[in-house]
Amino acid sequence: MCPSRRAFAASLASFAAVIACAPDGATAAAPTGPEPTPGVSLPQDPATVTPIAKTDAEWAALLPAGTYRVLREAGTERAFSGRYWNNHDKGAYVCSGCGLRLFASEDKFESGTGWPSYTRPAQADRVKINRDVTYGMVREEVVCARCAGHLGHVFDDGPAPTGQRFCINSASLVFVTVPTPTGGALPPG
Ligand SMILES: [Zn+2]
Repeated sequence: MCPSRRAFAASLASFAAVIACAPDGATAAAPTGPEPTPGVSLPQDPATVTPIAKTDAEWAALLPAGTYRVLREAGTERAFSGRYWNNHDKGAYVCSGCGLRLFASEDKFESGTGWPSYTRPAQADRVKINRDVTYGMVREEVVCARCAGHLGHVFDDGPAPTGQRFCINSASLVFVTVPTPTGGALPPG
């Protein structure tokens, strides 16, 4: 049984409040969230997704603190605090750990939850789903198929065409405009 979206949002907000004491940028009140990961600026589209393995120390050296907390420690940023929940620009959302193209602006929708929400990944092989039983709930955790970074969760109360709602932390994403074949960026809107 699925809770209503409003009830879901309220419950998740309370969970976010519980963990909001974490001293990182993901919980800041201003709608910015952690800085995008340095070096992650272009979407990567390998024909085959090959897993990347780094040590915790290597990830900690690479990622901004708030991003590390979400991506490598399965943290959740506070609702309406992230960089992209209200982003309507056309482009791609890539993994903030490894640059793999994960989601497209065309699949983003207004969920009202305060987290970026998508009806599907850019390609099915870009994410993996794990069962998550933390906080007394059974949820489907979404991770990057390449670096295994925590992205968020997927629920079956989304809109058409899939009926799914990929609820993703902004800290796990870097938004990039996608160059056209002529080299320009896609027009806004
Ligand atoms: Zn990744």
